[in-house]
Amino acid sequence: MTELVVVSGKGGTGKTSLIGSLAALSQDKVLVDCDVDAADLHLILQNNLQKTTEFIGGKRAVIIEEKCTNCGICPEYCRFDAIKHEVHGENAGGERYWIDEHACDGCGVCVRHCPEEAIDFRDVTSGEWYISDTPYGPLVHARLGIAQANSGKLVSVLRRQARELADQRGLDLILIDGPPGIGCPVIASITGTGYVLIVTEPSMSAMYDMERLLQLTVHFGIPTGICINKSDINPAMTSRIEEFAKKQKVSILGRIPFDPAVTKAQMAGTTVVEHATNGASKSIRLMWSKLSDVLKEHTHN
Ligand code: SF4
Ligand code: SF4
Repeated sequence: MTELVVVSGKGGTGKTSLIGSLAALSQDKVLVDCDVDAADLHLILQNNLQKTTEFIGGKRAVIIEEKCTNCGICPEYCRFDAIKHEVHGENAGGERYWIDEHACDGCGVCVRHCPEEAIDFRDVTSGEWYISDTPYGPLVHARLGIAQANSGKLVSVLRRQARELADQRGLDLILIDGPPGIGCPVIASITGTGYVLIVTEPSMSAMYDMERLLQLTVHFGIPTGICINKSDINPAMTSRIEEFAKKQKVSILGRIPFDPAVTKAQMAGTTVVEHATNGASKSIRLMWSKLSDVLKEHTHN
């Protein structure tokens, strides 16, 4: 089984649309959308939702007031200053300890030290993950709740589910739409995978993103190739990317020209390789053919 991840740094390079085409061209695969903050692959792949599962992103401590004797021990153990003390009036009955859910890190230390077992340690639902059917194969995707910070953990859940699905159904390829940036979710998306395809375009900012992503894949020792999207809109910059790739000994697997058919395909609710035969469609097919050979090479090694 091979895991292929497609990443691009910031958005706007046409990565998701390209993955739609790769989904249409490849056989026997599971698709994964690892952009858990703003998943959109399901929209272009006309998904049919099959299964929804809650994502438990962590734990939070909650003091049960009826059991708490106000002994004052727990705040001494909280490194996050999340346990608050309130005094209402002079008499002892007017005080209480409570935990600020936004400050609680879910470390569980207070739970272990409360002599009255008055602190509950509750699961926190941070989002949902889904399995959908699409005309191109099963898709694993997710939605992280607003202001939740467990995207790397959720990405790992998605990749595990995708591997299980691939095993169950005897599928050889896992095609991953990587999240933006170069932070924790991207690292969770690429570590241990077989190949990373960086989609860039001829602009300074996209080239900068490409360089940073390449540093990451080199660091993790993952074979990497580059696809230059809209390669004809700035030939000078495309040459710079090519020179850079040559110096780094990274293959340029695809040069895809700007093509209005890409937008037309999106508006028609299909992929460009199904919508057209020439232009971008032809280049994407050529790239997929090279990519398939490279994947075979890395699967056998
Ligand atoms: S340690 Fe337990 S009993 Fe003491 S203040 Fe904290 S929650 Fe209440
Ligand atoms: S679980 Fe950890 S962070 Fe949360 S209140 Fe208890 S000690 Fe503080």
